[in-house]
Amino acid sequence: MTRSAPSPNGSLPRGASRRTTLQGALATGALLGLSAPAALGQATAPVVVIGGGFAGATCARSLKGADPGLAVTLVEPAERYLACPFSNLVLAGLRKLDEQAFGYAGIAAAGVTIARQPAVAVDPERRRVRLGDGAELDYQRLVVAPGVDLRFDAIPGYDEAASERMPHAWKAGLQTGLLRRQLEAMPDGGQVVMAVPANPFRCPPGPYERASLIAHYLKTHKPRAKLIILDAKDQFSKQRLFEEAWAELYPGLIEWVSLSFGGQVTEVDPGANTLVTEFGSHRADVANVIPPQRAGAIAALAGVADATGWCPIDPVTFESTLVPGIHVIGDAAIGGAMPKSAFSANAQAKACAAAIIHLVREEAPPTPKLVNTCYSLVAPDYGISIAGVYAPKDGLLAEVEGAGGVSPLEAPAAVRVAEAAYAEAWFRTVTDEVFG
Ligand SMILES: Cc1cc2nc3c(=O)[nH]c(=O)nc-3n(C[C@H](O)[C@H](O)[C@H](O)COP(=O)(O)OP(=O)(O)OC[C@H]3O[C@@H](n4cnc5c(N)ncnc54)[C@H](O)[C@@H]3O)c2cc1C
Repeated sequence: MTRSAPSPNGSLPRGASRRTTLQGALATGALLGLSAPAALGQATAPVVVIGGGFAGATCARSLKGADPGLAVTLVEPAERYLACPFSNLVLAGLRKLDEQAFGYAGIAAAGVTIARQPAVAVDPERRRVRLGDGAELDYQRLVVAPGVDLRFDAIPGYDEAASERMPHAWKAGLQTGLLRRQLEAMPDGGQVVMAVPANPFRCPPGPYERASLIAHYLKTHKPRAKLIILDAKDQFSKQRLFEEAWAELYPGLIEWVSLSFGGQVTEVDPGANTLVTEFGSHRADVANVIPPQRAGAIAALAGVADATGWCPIDPVTFESTLVPGIHVIGDAAIGGAMPKSAFSANAQAKACAAAIIHLVREEAPPTPKLVNTCYSLVAPDYGISIAGVYAPKDGLLAEVEGAGGVSPLEAPAAVRVAEAAYAEAWFRTVTDEVFG
């Protein structure tokens, strides 16, 4: 079955004639003060968005908000989205997993058609997406926003079955609950070992926020326990701020082992709960293995992922440099200097939506300026952040010199308390904007 041009009220108009759809969109276009040719262009321009995370959900909603006459379908198999930001608080017992869940009713009410299916194939020649139930969606522009897949082929011994013993918890959900239960069950005096991948990966400061909040839990519930971070890098995001905070809040509790000092995990043994590095092996009471990642599988199936596993894009339009008519946003995209964060995904989605609106009207897309702020909590009332501004340069999204910044070192407690409140406010605002 081929579905085309879904109606603006959110239902798929099986059998609806193209003429009826066109007239409806023309009326909407007139209301918006658009010229007839532009409205005609939109009416025949269904946009399909794959993935209802921070990137895809924002993009679908922004497209519909900018042009209610545009037919937009969001393809997402999950009934509820489970957000990763703030999920480290769940591990520390400071937040419920349910507070991370968001439904799609608000997006449907905004006029986006929701197809509750996985996208399983893309035919770029015929501009068609196939869904898990066999249905097909025609598109003029396709947005691919599937987030990341964990690479279960990257660390010998670490496959999907091993993640049941050594959770990654790098996608919020069952894995988050599993790691939390393991931490609760661990005896006082036990050892938590984290494995952290090399760049690029989802949420560069995320592992260190996680280490901090697990340390907070250990300090308050199992004060004789230890946490070791085995890192495949020699440097990490907001490093000086994290290290300053660890010395102050968790002295002697967290040990960070850099790449140069044998931090790279070369193998794991889930049976023995052991992580092996070139310098030796570490037995864990709780092992949190965050493996390397790549763009979600549908990106490779659509032909938009390159040999790195990530998706090269034009930084002005987010259109794939490999396949015309397909845009890639969020974690799956090669964002240049922009980190893979929900904040970035949301900003990229809005810029991509604006570009698509211009492209379907055959107008030149605007050059975007994008902002990202990554907040991290080191303790419940101790926040730190790094912010950047990004613009297209030499085919990539480059950081605008002198425009960003990080939290000050040696700041008074009130600054950290305020930043923790900003982090919470950001999460509330962005989730309300996208899913509310
Ligand atoms: C522990 C942790 C803490 C974090 N903290 C922060 C933070 O404080 N601030 C911040 O900005 N970022 C944070 N992040 C990063 C943030 O979660 C990601 O950068 C963000 O979720 C990326 O959004 P996305 O839409 O690209 O991908 P996702 O959020 O993963 O969404 C992808 C969606 O696509 C769907 N999908 C995949 N394949 C298909 C398919 N074939 N068909 C249909 N749908 C499909 C999935 O079901 C999913 O809903 C954190 C991440 C982690 C792991």
